[in-house]
Amino acid sequence: IYQVPFAENEPVNSYAPGTPERELLQNALKEARSKEVDIPMYIGADEVKTGKKLPLNPPHDHQHLLGHFHEGDSSHVEQAIKAALAAKEKWASLSWEHRASIFLKAADLIAGPYRYKINAATMLGQSKSPYQAEIDSACELIDFLRFNVQYMTEIYSEQPESAPGVWNRLEYRPLEGFVFAITPFNFTAIAGNLPSSAALMGNTVVWKPAYTQIYAADIIMQVFKEAGLPDGVINLVYVNGPTAGDVVFKHPEFSGLHFTGSTEVFKNLWKTIGENIDIYKSYPRIVGETGGKDFILAHPTSHAKDVATAITRGAFEFQGQKCSAASRVYLPDNISEEVLKFVKEDVKDIQMGGVEDFENFFNAVIDKKSFDKIAGYIEKVKDSNVAEIVAGGEYDDSKGYFIQPTVVVTKDPQFLTMKEEIFGPVVTIYVYKQDNFEETLTLVDETSPYALTGAIFSQDRYAIELATKKLSQSAGNFYINDKPTGAVVGQQPFGGARGSGTNDKAGSKLNLLRWASARTIKETF
Ligand code: GLU
Repeated sequence: IYQVPFAENEPVNSYAPGTPERELLQNALKEARSKEVDIPMYIGADEVKTGKKLPLNPPHDHQHLLGHFHEGDSSHVEQAIKAALAAKEKWASLSWEHRASIFLKAADLIAGPYRYKINAATMLGQSKSPYQAEIDSACELIDFLRFNVQYMTEIYSEQPESAPGVWNRLEYRPLEGFVFAITPFNFTAIAGNLPSSAALMGNTVVWKPAYTQIYAADIIMQVFKEAGLPDGVINLVYVNGPTAGDVVFKHPEFSGLHFTGSTEVFKNLWKTIGENIDIYKSYPRIVGETGGKDFILAHPTSHAKDVATAITRGAFEFQGQKCSAASRVYLPDNISEEVLKFVKEDVKDIQMGGVEDFENFFNAVIDKKSFDKIAGYIEKVKDSNVAEIVAGGEYDDSKGYFIQPTVVVTKDPQFLTMKEEIFGPVVTIYVYKQDNFEETLTLVDETSPYALTGAIFSQDRYAIELATKKLSQSAGNFYINDKPTGAVVGQQPFGGARGSGTNDKAGSKLNLLRWASARTIKETF
């Protein structure tokens, strides 16, 4: 019914040598490196500098200072909630076309003048290669903004039947109160999507990003402002989790949580919300994308080279710091040796280093805490007598938080690196007897508490169908003959169930619907 600009996926720049885009991105990097930023919080119309400055450093070069951000305390969270509530009525009553225009313009600004700046910020702040940054902070963020507008109009078009003398209507109101968005370090696109999708549906938002993401989050906020987002619609605060939670979840107008992060934190937030349930005006919407222990299962008929490529790309792109990263692999013994040979060759070719050298495929992990956690798992493998490292396994944080892409082979399908989320470049492989494919399906389903992504490789249709049926609850995104990562907005709505989240599929109508509270109107003539 509604005509909006047709959403198409933003084309991805390759940054190949000699292209003008490569030079523009290099210039943006140089510029970012040459000046120190001083990043304020954004509350209502104010840019707030508290004087409590915390440093921003590139993970691959942790002694370099990119600048500072100003940390807030509980009073800033209170102010942000006040600003969100003050802006609410006007924003909620603004026609949807105007809300849509703001975010469509934001998408165009990122696709155009801000592209290199936001990519450079993601590269330096989160240690991503040019191509990773392009996919994340340019293309995926642009796609979220454009496709969400299309999904919003599809939702608004969904209307009930009417009868002679009766006109039934559904009015998709925003939630009453404010929405709280918590965003993770690993995707600039997610940082932009979580507050903006709720705001697009007429809500106002308090947004708390991970500290390791603030360098890029600041640019997203600048873009939203330049696109015409009114003051107070999205309020960006830098406070630690418990401080923010203490204020937000005790507020009667808290109406929804849009979260991406760890399973443990999400469960704790859910408990806190439960404890406070009596004080809220409405039952809060709780939307979360959390952990993963994502699998690749190869059938005896699968092609070794394809499986190997999926392992290397699925496990090591983005340094394995994806909820969707392949981290446990089940190989049949008829092809396991060949697959391992290819994987080892691939891993040898992976060039690791800082983001300024565009030839590096693989960069640093986000911070000291992640580095220590991942290194701890590698040490546990080294100490074990049921698992061994067959590639990588070294780490060094003298300049940056570098961990080699690491391949583990275990004899024990229940070994801890087959079960626990590591969130780093470690993949564990278990070899099963080729006649045991059906038993292995049960193993895949029952080994981990997560259900985010998974992949089956096979040339046998019956095996593919069997896996698709038996693993129906094991992954929210299930890939046939492809790696379990790289969901594209508008093509593969993304999210998982069980310990992986509420499965409200980022980049889909299902997600946007959570930010609307429908009113049924019946009129008789
Ligand atoms: N959507 C991304 C993918 O499909 C992963 C996002 C995440 O790590 O949270 O690979």
